[in-house]
Amino acid sequence: MLKILPILRHPNPLLRQRAKEVDLKVLTEKIFQDLAEDMIATMWQADGVGLAAPQIGQGLRLIIVASGKQAATLINPVIIYKSFRKEVMEEGCLSVPGLFGPVKRSKTIRYRAYTREGKKVSFKAEGLTARIIQHELDHLNGVLFIDRAKWIASVGTSAEL
Ligand code: ZN
Repeated sequence: MLKILPILRHPNPLLRQRAKEVDLKVLTEKIFQDLAEDMIATMWQADGVGLAAPQIGQGLRLIIVASGKQAATLINPVIIYKSFRKEVMEEGCLSVPGLFGPVKRSKTIRYRAYTREGKKVSFKAEGLTARIIQHELDHLNGVLFIDRAKWIASVGTSAEL
């Protein structure tokens, strides 16, 4: 049974901690796979386009990234290349509801991660996907978009990550 998990809100201190690497041995455990499934369900339910484990109170390097109707699970993600070229786009965050602001991020990135099956993968991402991954990776390091935004407003149109 899928569970919709409560999403922690700023200023919860758990959102400010550095998440720990996932021990790949847990990938074979149902409790871990259920957590990933529940995070995906929680993200869709909240109309988000990304979710990081610290947002549901789990200090693990585990993120969910939406791409259209698909959700990718990235375990122990690392950004190995960030383009010098950056762009500014408005962001929101499920943990900072109702606030939006412009954040400058690299346009293109290359990242490495493990899949839920424990396979090591490396991909290039650009545009919104690159932005979501950078935003979610920030969550793993205790950083929120409000730390990076040029300014914050209570009206916005962007999706929450
Ligand atoms: Zn967020």
